[in-house]
Amino acid sequence: MTRSAGSGSNPADRHDRDDDASDARPAHMPNANVDIPRIEKAVREILLAVGENPEREGLIKTPNRVARAYSELMAGLQDDPRRHLKTVFRERYDEVVLLRDIEFHSLCEHHLLPFTGRAHVAYLPDGKVVGLSKLARLVEGYARRPQVQERLTTQIADALMEELNPIGAACVIEATHTCMTIRGAKKHGSTMVTSALRGIFKENASSRSEILALMHYGNGVKS
Ligand SMILES: [Zn+2]
Repeated sequence: MTRSAGSGSNPADRHDRDDDASDARPAHMPNANVDIPRIEKAVREILLAVGENPEREGLIKTPNRVARAYSELMAGLQDDPRRHLKTVFRERYDEVVLLRDIEFHSLCEHHLLPFTGRAHVAYLPDGKVVGLSKLARLVEGYARRPQVQERLTTQIADALMEELNPIGAACVIEATHTCMTIRGAKKHGSTMVTSALRGIFKENASSRSEILALMHYGNGVKS
């Protein structure tokens, strides 16, 4: 939603509009086809269940806001992230392609709480190359759904292997899980690291060391 200058000057108009600024959805993500009224109903139930009053002013629009936030966070469910790997170009480039520090936001499927972090994605092409932005979209497509970090990591590496048939593919993800940092064990600042190595990066010790070093993790990462 783009807000034009001067909009919202009418108080009634402003009241009808959601006043949080989190509406923008990346243009390349499809609209999530979620049942908004059903989520609204469920959120209202949660508010009642914790002893809140869903009718009070601050909460009156919360069910709708949460529903729209979920439709954005779950947008990857309507997407096949592999579509981003369908546009390839042929290139005789036989060195590693690595995109580091792809920021992502996902939702832990056990608690529906966010986990956020960075993915490092690499492959050693065998003739098929994709644009770097496609790697970021691949990560985003798999992140925007109820997830676990381990599966996110393997889905990315497997998609690369199966769509590009490279000599090797690797994905390392480091993330902070709010289900750990704000509740339960309350391990503040702890980061979970997962890796998925495929092809030559799995089979060949020196290729493996090389890619992990490029990703700044040395040899200490378990696969
Ligand atoms: Zn969790």
